[in-house]
Amino acid sequence: MKKEQKILVENGYERLEKKGVSRRDFLKLCTLSCIAFGLDLSFAPKMAEIAAANLTKKPLIWMQGQGCTGCSSSLLSSVNPGSEEILLDLLSVRFHPTIMAAAGDQAVGCLEESIEKGNYLLVLEGSIPTADPRFCMVEGRPFLEQFRKAASKAEVVIAVGSCASYGGIPRAGLTGAVGARDVLNGVRVVNLPSCPVKPDRLVGTLLYYLGNNELPRLDQHGRPVAYYRYTLHDSCYRRLHYERGEFLSHWNDPETTDWCLYYKGCKGKNTFTNCSSYWWNDGVNYCGFAGSPCSGCSQPEFYEELSPLFANPKEVK
Ligand code: SF4
Ligand code: SF4
Repeated sequence: MKKEQKILVENGYERLEKKGVSRRDFLKLCTLSCIAFGLDLSFAPKMAEIAAANLTKKPLIWMQGQGCTGCSSSLLSSVNPGSEEILLDLLSVRFHPTIMAAAGDQAVGCLEESIEKGNYLLVLEGSIPTADPRFCMVEGRPFLEQFRKAASKAEVVIAVGSCASYGGIPRAGLTGAVGARDVLNGVRVVNLPSCPVKPDRLVGTLLYYLGNNELPRLDQHGRPVAYYRYTLHDSCYRRLHYERGEFLSHWNDPETTDWCLYYKGCKGKNTFTNCSSYWWNDGVNYCGFAGSPCSGCSQPEFYEELSPLFANPKEVK
């Protein structure tokens, strides 16, 4: 390793340790990312070195369109693998409307200055209105205009959550809401749909990108194959009941509480996601285990084409 690179790596690790992320934990994260993306595990230490070196200098801009800020909340609430520390403390976050201390002209100045310099990672949270620009304005200008300007100088755009990926819940309304890919040309976009974003997918994708200088393999909907290869149904813990023809019909029946939720509106059979194999909240739970039918939030059809969400499919026309 060249001397300059070694210094960057050491600085990266030092900064990580100051934030309470040990080398061992960081290596573990990179190993998990390697597993998810199907890379040879022997590559994990190298990936950790490159990612550590890049973490300390890679600028990140986080823009918010039409959304509920749930994706930011999801990220800030995660405990492990320390998504918040890694993303918000260790990357150079230049602009984030919800958490940055600056406001007004000062905040907008940060955004403009960062765009001017270019070569940053751009994260989009929330959808983009196209029916009328006035549905979402930033600094007196249409969000669509601002977003396109920022994307034109970004290395890569990461659309976090269903709204930023495909329009999500706002797409069901009047605003003509769409996702990042629908309004950009010639810009690399990764979609990480779910409502809200699953923090480990965002961290894993960023680590992969920072450690390899390339994007992971994406499917036809722009999602990393590693996280969206199989359906929820494939590894759902209620699957045995599905095979036995045991379907929950009354919410409050204690005898059937673990039975399959298909007739309660579960969309898991056609939803590509790893929610049932890598559970949410640091492995604590996922919708099916918590008793809620999957609403298909990682699919492009969410929410409009999949509603009503909790209806018996036999009764939906
Ligand atoms: S609850 Fe949904 S995902 Fe789970 S087995 Fe039933 S239909 Fe499949
Ligand atoms: S289980 Fe279904 S509804 Fe729940 S987060 Fe995963 S994809 Fe979305």
